[in-house]
Amino acid sequence: MEKSMERIIKKQEEASIILDNMLAGYMIVTCVSGIVQLEFISEKCFPILGYSREEFYSLCKDDPLAFFFQDNYSEVVKSFVKLTQTMEPEIFEYQLYHRNNEKVYVQMRGGATEPSSKSFELQFLILDITSMKQELINLEIESTIDSLTQVYNQIAVKKLVTEILGNNQGNEKFAFFVIDIDYFKIINDSFGHLFGDAILASVGDEIKSIFAGNRVCGRIGGDEFAVLMPFEQKTDMELLAEKFCERVKRIYLGGEKEITQGVSCSIGISYSTDSNKGYQEVFYEADTALFAVKKGGRGFWESFDETKDYLQEDSDRPSKRKENESICSNGTENSKVHPLLQFTIEFLDKAQDIKSAIHIVLDRVRRYFDIDNVMIVKSGLDEKRAIEYQLCSNEVKPIEEDWNYFGDSVWLPGSSVYTEVGCAVVRKEDLSPATCELVNMKSALSTFTHYGKKSHVGNIIFMNYTKEKQWSLEEKEVLNGLVTIIFGHIARFENVEDKNRQMDYLINYDTLTNLPSYENFKKIAWRIIYEEQEKEYCIIYTDFNNFKYINETYGFALGDAILVRYAQFLKSKYKYGIDVCRITADQYVILVESNSIAKPRLEFIKMCQMFCNMTEKELQISNLTLISGICKIDRDQEYAVTSAVDNANSAKKTVKDSADIECVAYTHSMKKESDERMEIISRVSIALDQNEFVVYLQPKISLVDDSIVGAEALVRWIKPDGTMIYPDKFIPLFEENGTITKIDFYVLQEVLIYLRRRLDKKLKVVPISVNFSRKHQINPQFANDIIALLNEYGIPEYLIEIEVTEYIFVNDIEGFQKNIVKLKEKGISISIDDFGSGYSSLNILSTIQADVIKIDQAFLKRDDKKGHTVLRSLIHMIKDLGFQVIVEGAETREQVRFLKGTDCDMVQGYFFAKPMPMEEFDEFSIKK
Ligand code: C2E
Ligand code: CA
Ligand code: CA
Repeated sequence: MEKSMERIIKKQEEASIILDNMLAGYMIVTCVSGIVQLEFISEKCFPILGYSREEFYSLCKDDPLAFFFQDNYSEVVKSFVKLTQTMEPEIFEYQLYHRNNEKVYVQMRGGATEPSSKSFELQFLILDITSMKQELINLEIESTIDSLTQVYNQIAVKKLVTEILGNNQGNEKFAFFVIDIDYFKIINDSFGHLFGDAILASVGDEIKSIFAGNRVCGRIGGDEFAVLMPFEQKTDMELLAEKFCERVKRIYLGGEKEITQGVSCSIGISYSTDSNKGYQEVFYEADTALFAVKKGGRGFWESFDETKDYLQEDSDRPSKRKENESICSNGTENSKVHPLLQFTIEFLDKAQDIKSAIHIVLDRVRRYFDIDNVMIVKSGLDEKRAIEYQLCSNEVKPIEEDWNYFGDSVWLPGSSVYTEVGCAVVRKEDLSPATCELVNMKSALSTFTHYGKKSHVGNIIFMNYTKEKQWSLEEKEVLNGLVTIIFGHIARFENVEDKNRQMDYLINYDTLTNLPSYENFKKIAWRIIYEEQEKEYCIIYTDFNNFKYINETYGFALGDAILVRYAQFLKSKYKYGIDVCRITADQYVILVESNSIAKPRLEFIKMCQMFCNMTEKELQISNLTLISGICKIDRDQEYAVTSAVDNANSAKKTVKDSADIECVAYTHSMKKESDERMEIISRVSIALDQNEFVVYLQPKISLVDDSIVGAEALVRWIKPDGTMIYPDKFIPLFEENGTITKIDFYVLQEVLIYLRRRLDKKLKVVPISVNFSRKHQINPQFANDIIALLNEYGIPEYLIEIEVTEYIFVNDIEGFQKNIVKLKEKGISISIDDFGSGYSSLNILSTIQADVIKIDQAFLKRDDKKGHTVLRSLIHMIKDLGFQVIVEGAETREQVRFLKGTDCDMVQGYFFAKPMPMEEFDEFSIKK
């Protein structure tokens, strides 16, 4: 007890050092036979979980988890179970509500330590990741939004419309509009893309305002928009379309004289009044109507008419056609704000790509005032100035980047040239002749300056080389306003960029080690090997041996520290390495330049030895070992990098529990093995379809009279070429990917078919047991599924036995045990497989709901006196508790004889028979 206290205190100290700078808490719980108890919780956990220390302790006396994870209780339990299953550190994330209803995201990083007889210890870092999560969510939202128009993008529109129409039970009517800007290409070509963008942004705004109450509204092509609207009356929708066409014609394009012919749009409408139209249909209909509009002269709208033959070349001109009025209203008559300022405010406000938006604005300003060159110059902290934007008329040359023509007087707001607040008009005479020469300036230079919160941020310079410009007071005011607005947006933009950079980092880098993410690494590696065609490269896959041990013995904080050190070591000290990434938990991948494997392999082993020695010494730990694999990159292969990584990993996996540092060179025979594994995984559904899984039966023999009292169904995979694969080769793989649940039910079905056949023929039958993996635990319908299948084949319950391991009782997930109880109550017998092989204690026998206990083979293998005593009393005790007992794996006459001298009921083993095909089993039964 004292020892464990000491350990906890030590861990607490370690943790607090590392955690001091983090908003992270630290927690240790123990888990004994599924009961969770709190061992230690650090102060920082409380604010993260949303409770005060007192509140926490008063409420968590009995079950700490039930309390602070109310919202996620079952999820948390599941995660805990997973930790104890895999014994690998994991990261879990939960959403919690604090008591003030504030939503927070909590991340738990941690893992379980090896069971000390029957208990697990779980240690966690608890982190508040709300702000990071929020950013991710925002980013997700942004990626469905068209950045220019701030409405949904094409992919989002399709997805949302499909969803809404698909979920509609016919109780809602929808109108779907496709809106197309007429002659957009011409606008773009004649006035430039910047103006085109400005128009699109305005159209997006208009759509949002006119089609208020829309369900979906988005941009589905260059100049095409779509809107999905619920409606009552078609005429309402037609009025909206009408209104919209009108509104578009008024889109304000600023004071430019050239663009007075304005914009117009065409609209096609489709109606979905029942539930049978999907996205494709409504889009097709609306688009067809739109096409008719375009043929009819554009600028108006049409509803899709099912009775009309749209294919007919000379279809009637739509009757709803409106006169295509000439549009010239600029919509600013009543506005007090200067149109240029209003444009700037509105335009920058909705712009997503601020950079091009500022270009649009500057170009507009330049034309409006007829200036030769407009520049935005930003001042850095050290008053270094850089041109950020520059827009010139065609007649003049842009100012070059490395310039400093004008001297400080022009820039610094305090200088004498600033006669009015914030602006200076500098004439040619005010500058040195040399400067004028350089810029080739014949006329004035006006500079408007901007302050940030405290200091000077930058200037916007309006230059006239060719003509003199007189600024009126009103114009100066406008420009001053402009400068403020523009710099404000630049600041906003920089803020966003900063955030993007952070996001980028989170996605492309591993936050613990700062190494690139695997995806990122692959890109980097790919680029390197294709840019340097004459060089050759290898991949090293390296992994700490038994890192679990480190985590358990020294705590996760130290584990993390080692991972970070190794990353730094590989990056900086390991000269062969070009780039490194951490692929998962304690595994790294390194790109190495070399035309042979031998040299880098030896070099790498040496480096690993150095690292381990150094780290063991400095951190005062022991048993740090790295095992690795190395493989050459074959450029000609598809997915050259990925397959080299896979191969190096396969090579690494051939090292089994070595205490030495190793690095295995990849060979082709390794490939065969990993290919086999891949083939097994990829072929499973075909194999199921083609009945390649065959059920064998192994008899269970009564120890009283040697009669056959049952059988166990054991699956075999027989490939088309006749080769047989044993379950130990594929069951673990299928447990990993979940396919096992299908196979188990397949086996049950085959057994039911077999029994049905025999019952129909009035032949003798014995109960047959079927194995069910723990992976069924996530299926709340488990019992019902089995019962339904039995009913389907009309097989009486007593003929089927379910074999499960004690595991599902020790780690009950989501009340799965209810399923077992239900089956048992139905009369289906439950058998506990491999008893005594796992973590179980005899204790669990008092709580377990089962009929038969199957004692693991391992007990018979202990053929000495002590072994016999253990087995005999184990059998005795189980019998005493009211279970039937069967022992597995009897191979010799002596073993059977021994069992006959105990209370054991049944035996199963090669001594009597190996598992055999069903027909053979029938013959075997007759002979017996
Ligand atoms: P298990 O459930 O413990 O099945 C008993 C295993 O012991 C069988 O191996 C059987 O052939 C073997 N065995 C029986 N008597 C003896 C003996 O005297 N000596 C020795 N050395 N072995 C004996 P098998 O058929 O290779 O199955 C291995 C494991 O694969 C099974 O162990 C079970 O865990 C799993 N398995 C097999 N079929 C299925 C299935 O349909 N579903 C699931 N979930 N697992 C299955
Ligand atoms: Ca079994
Ligand atoms: Ca077994």
